[in-house]
Amino acid sequence: MDLIVLATRNEGKARELASLLHGLARRVESLRDHPEIELPSETGSTYRENALAKARAAHDALGVPALGDDSGLEVDALRGAPGLHSARFAGPGASDRANIERLLRALEGVPAAQRTARFRCVLALVGARRGPIVVEGVCEGRILAEPRGGAGFGYDPVFVPEGESKAFAELMGDQKDLLSHRGRAARALRDAIESDY
Ligand code: IMP
Repeated sequence: MDLIVLATRNEGKARELASLLHGLARRVESLRDHPEIELPSETGSTYRENALAKARAAHDALGVPALGDDSGLEVDALRGAPGLHSARFAGPGASDRANIERLLRALEGVPAAQRTARFRCVLALVGARRGPIVVEGVCEGRILAEPRGGAGFGYDPVFVPEGESKAFAELMGDQKDLLSHRGRAARALRDAIESDY
């Protein structure tokens, strides 16, 4: 592929996806390079619907292969919340910090053993050689009582992946990629594309 467009304006997602897709296309752009393109509001009832809608919108506007990412954090003690609403848990346009504060308040008094959670990422590629390719990656882990580390984005300072002692925000980018939901989904996407070409 000559060019792939990441159907996102989220800087953290765009950075991770560009690195994870390295070599797949000669050039990777995101909607930060195309401010005129509007993404549909996330009204789908599944990650899959939202990821496909984002990819379709970018593909329709630019006529090149486009990749949509819809992802979220599912906390067991909150019956799966914030889930699809992770980006706006503390309200529309909420900052990462406000979302984390709301999450920690909601989990106040919940003991460590019951703070299990997972990140889920669905990637949808539209406009490549065959019909849409949709893949999913999951990363199990737990929610800390206090934020730690300064790397990454979103809920990274409060999420520790299973089997690790460091939060995502305390890991280098390539270490997060090895474990993360987005890293797993991106590797599944590469496999699907390579088996097709
Ligand atoms: P959406 O896919 O645009 O609905 O947003 C997903 C939201 O989930 C992000 O804004 C983050 O709050 C959260 N999220 C998704 N992936 C990650 C991640 O890798 N680290 C931290 N937070 C994430």
